[in-house]
Order: sequence, then C-alpha cells, then structure tokens
Amino acid sequence: MTTTLDAQSSPAGAPDRFRILLEEQRTDCVRQREAALAECAQSVPDPVAQRRSADLLLTIGEIDAALARIAAGTYGRCTGCQAEIPAERLELRPFAGTCVACTTAR
Ligand SMILES: [Zn+2]
Repeated sequence: MTTTLDAQSSPAGAPDRFRILLEEQRTDCVRQREAALAECAQSVPDPVAQRRSADLLLTIGEIDAALARIAAGTYGRCTGCQAEIPAERLELRPFAGTCVACTTAR
C-alpha cells in the first residue's frame, strides 16, 4: 500500500482537491467529446457538434496542462505574470492557467 504517494507529489498550496476535480472534469470532457464525435460521424455532419468537439479538445488540453502544473508544483500561479490566481477563480475554472488580468489582456 502506497498511502503517501499523493501527499509527496502535492506541495502545499496545490490541494489534491483540485487534482481530483480536474480529473473528474477531464473524464467528463472526454465522454462529451466522444458523444459529439459520434454526432459528427452522421451522414449530415452537425456543425454545432463539430464546434463542440473542437472546444472540448481545447478544454481537455487545458486540463492536461493544469494537471502538469500540479505535478510540477506551479499550479495556482499565473503562467503570464506569475501572480497567484485567486481561489475563487480556480473554483470556477480549476484549469485556469492565467489570472483575470492576463486573460483579458490576451
Ligand atoms: Zn497574470
């Protein structure tokens, strides 16, 4: 039994809670994307489903990047200005990689 594995890989300030949240969201996105792709495979492709599948792929990429930041110990910090991302922003978008200022400046 390796009970301390997760605790070791999670530095203080990068709560496991977010990792679990992100993994749940990722599973959800993958499932939704499969459904959207199935719709795209119809004889008449649905542009809404195509758009949706592309958007979901982007979100999955963002979630993967956030999980990588948790592993690297940089989760919760803006990739633009290195400022701490407010907790309430992470609650809404656990995969957010930038603070509000950097996101709107893009
Ligand atoms: Zn920033």
